Amino acid sequence: MTATAIHLRPAVTAVPRYRPGASGAALVKLSSNENPFPPLPGVMEAAVEASGALNRYPDHGATALVEALAARYGVPSGHVAVGTGSVALLHQIVMCTSGPGDEVVHAWRSFEAYPIAVGLAGATAVPVPLTVSEHHDLERMAAAVTARTRLIMLCSPNNPTGVTIGRAELAAFLDGVRPDVLVVLDEAYAEFVRDPDAADGLRAYREHPNVCVLRTFSKAYGLAGLRVGYAIAPEPVADALRASAVPFGVTAMAQEAARASLAPGLRAVLAERVDALVAERHRVAAALREAGRNPVEGEANFIWLRLGAGAESFAECCARHGVLVRAYPGDGVRVSVGLPTENDRFLAVACGA
Ligand SMILES: *Cc1c(COP(=O)(O)O)cnc(C)c1O
Repeated sequence: MTATAIHLRPAVTAVPRYRPGASGAALVKLSSNENPFPPLPGVMEAAVEASGALNRYPDHGATALVEALAARYGVPSGHVAVGTGSVALLHQIVMCTSGPGDEVVHAWRSFEAYPIAVGLAGATAVPVPLTVSEHHDLERMAAAVTARTRLIMLCSPNNPTGVTIGRAELAAFLDGVRPDVLVVLDEAYAEFVRDPDAADGLRAYREHPNVCVLRTFSKAYGLAGLRVGYAIAPEPVADALRASAVPFGVTAMAQEAARASLAPGLRAVLAERVDALVAERHRVAAALREAGRNPVEGEANFIWLRLGAGAESFAECCARHGVLVRAYPGDGVRVSVGLPTENDRFLAVACGA
């Protein structure tokens, strides 16, 4: 970094930079958990139509989208807040709850955006290691709560391990959390979950006044490039999210594309695509197992390989063969589920490597 006389808050200079999944032309990109399918039928058209008013600011309250989400989940529209991706909502939640001296408890390894958001807010991250079976260690997380804890981040399915939090386990955990501590359930991959015993954030939100659910149009809906996510939370939290949003952040194209994606007539198409990705996830995991690898299949649109010291060299080998995967040095590799041909290319490298 170039030296500067400008004063930047130490929290900003100290924060680790977000590393996007690798990308490159003519490569198979399995490094960012993107959806290989295009947006649902009619969604592009809705976005293009909205683009006719690019000289205007979008609807500040994203009214139509908020109402569609409220109707879809049967919650009051005052409990819904939208943002430029659920990552933006995550940053807002941290900023609204936690400052210097405050603590935010989250699992580790989990989504890399958590320590970044906490660091930028000047708060203290309290990472709690996953169990050996890659689960959130909710007992240790409960024990890590102190008088300074303001926020607990839970990720289910967890990125990058794919493992979900159990329903009963979450209920017991929430019963023990102080009511002034906000619990965020990051469910970016909710649509991919098939385990009936997995926690359901919406149910937790209905039962506890300190639970906020984060979801996104980036993964199952295939709108990562448009940046739309949403929170479902008790009114004061949703209100804080509206107050802290960058004005007009969610563009008219994003609002309309997201709203069109929620059309009841598209639910079957969405389910079909998600089912296809889940079937591919099973296939890839089975092939890896057969090849003597030890994949964690999880419940999302990716597979986790705990390779320890071999993570980086494995990812480099894949990249040399034109397949981009996400390495977490010293820890593991996360491989997104793509189209069958893309997954085959990955398997050809991984099973030979
Ligand atoms: C992909 C992802 C998100 C969603 O990010 P957007 O900003 O909505 O694109 C949120 N949380 C986790 C854990 C993710 O993996």
